[in-house]
Amino acid sequence: TLPAPRTLSPVETRHMAPALRPTGLRGGLLSWDGRLSDDARLVTALARTAAAHGARVLTRARALRLDGDGALVRDELTGGETRVRARTVVNATGVWAGGLVGDIRLRPSRGTHLVLRSEDLGSLTAGLHIPIPGEANRFVLVLPQGDGRVYVGLTDEPVDGGIPDVPEVPETDIGFLLDVLCSTLDVPLGRDDVIGAFAGLRPLLDTAADADGGRTADISRKHAVLTSAEGVVTVVGGKLTTYRRMAQDAVDAAVRSRGLPAAPCRTASLPLVGAARPSRLAALEAPRRLVRRYGTEAPAVHALGLADPDLARPVVPGHPVTGAELLWAVRHEGALDEGDLLDRRTRIGLVPQDREAALAAAGEALRRAADQPTAP
Ligand SMILES: Cc1cc2nc3c(=O)[nH]c(=O)nc-3n(C[C@H](O)[C@H](O)[C@H](O)COP(=O)(O)OP(=O)(O)OC[C@H]3O[C@@H](n4cnc5c(N)ncnc54)[C@H](O)[C@@H]3O)c2cc1C
Repeated sequence: TLPAPRTLSPVETRHMAPALRPTGLRGGLLSWDGRLSDDARLVTALARTAAAHGARVLTRARALRLDGDGALVRDELTGGETRVRARTVVNATGVWAGGLVGDIRLRPSRGTHLVLRSEDLGSLTAGLHIPIPGEANRFVLVLPQGDGRVYVGLTDEPVDGGIPDVPEVPETDIGFLLDVLCSTLDVPLGRDDVIGAFAGLRPLLDTAADADGGRTADISRKHAVLTSAEGVVTVVGGKLTTYRRMAQDAVDAAVRSRGLPAAPCRTASLPLVGAARPSRLAALEAPRRLVRRYGTEAPAVHALGLADPDLARPVVPGHPVTGAELLWAVRHEGALDEGDLLDRRTRIGLVPQDREAALAAAGEALRRAADQPTAP
């Protein structure tokens, strides 16, 4: 359904990315990718869809130990521990998977993104792939977010030692990304223009073929499903874009290993909460930005702002997220505190200054939801 890739003249290229350095620019290649609005919204929609089909979703529940018959789980809010019994257990804890099941050997690789203000990069109407000097097939991506921010990333650096809950961003990563950016752009960009930075750890599988100390950038991104001697099924590696296939393979393995009865897999035709055909989405009476983020639920989010104009306003100047979205996240998306609202339901928290400015609005959304828990 996407247009075919095509070449662009130098003039067209500069029209889409005025900040590109004109010297030596011979044109561009236009292709289509990266249309995910916000991965936090995808994950939230996925959890809610699972809940609608009978899943029990518990946040703040840390698995301390796994075996084929269940898990020892700690409630991170109260510190209480409890044993959960299960007919089958899947370990899908990403880069942390090796901490729960022995014999899972990972080579974590840090991917860092910078956050810049769109206005500092000219009016970018497309993302950019900037070749990394001296590398054959590696690029730094410049990804406009449509919310006044642009992400620039990402690095691929092996990480040794323990796996932190939230990886830190070293200054060397920031310097590297800025250098690549400045190799191609005609705008002065320095450390002060970096308004935020974040990193994630890729759970790359350390297969025998990769174990010779090669670069993490060269390790396969394919996923693997491994069943331990105790019967715990681990799914690891992979991509966000292949999440359904990963889940299907993991559940198939779990069903097989425990001899469980199961109906045929339905994931190929199961829509997420809020999904609909483009024609139906186009007819919804709500701002387009909300439709992109909430699909068919956008009118309900929009209605909160219509009922109370305070909720229709952005919670931080220069960033589009409104109070209505925060309230929606508490009432319908299981957000429990300011961190959930600013870091895991919206992306406000990627810029520390914006996070600070939005804390009061997040607190207000939590209070409102507590005062009116049954409101629509
Ligand atoms: C920097 C970076 C860039 C990427 N870029 C892309 C891309 O462009 N395209 C793409 O398709 N994919 C990309 N990926 C890959 C994609 O993010 C992963 O494939 C995907 O997140 C894997 O999902 P997962 O559910 O297996 O693991 P995760 O998303 O890591 O989820 C694991 C979850 O388990 C939880 N957890 C951990 N330990 C415990 C415990 N003991 N008890 C309970 N819960 C626990 C964690 O809190 C986490 O929520 C990228 C990954 C990184 C790190």
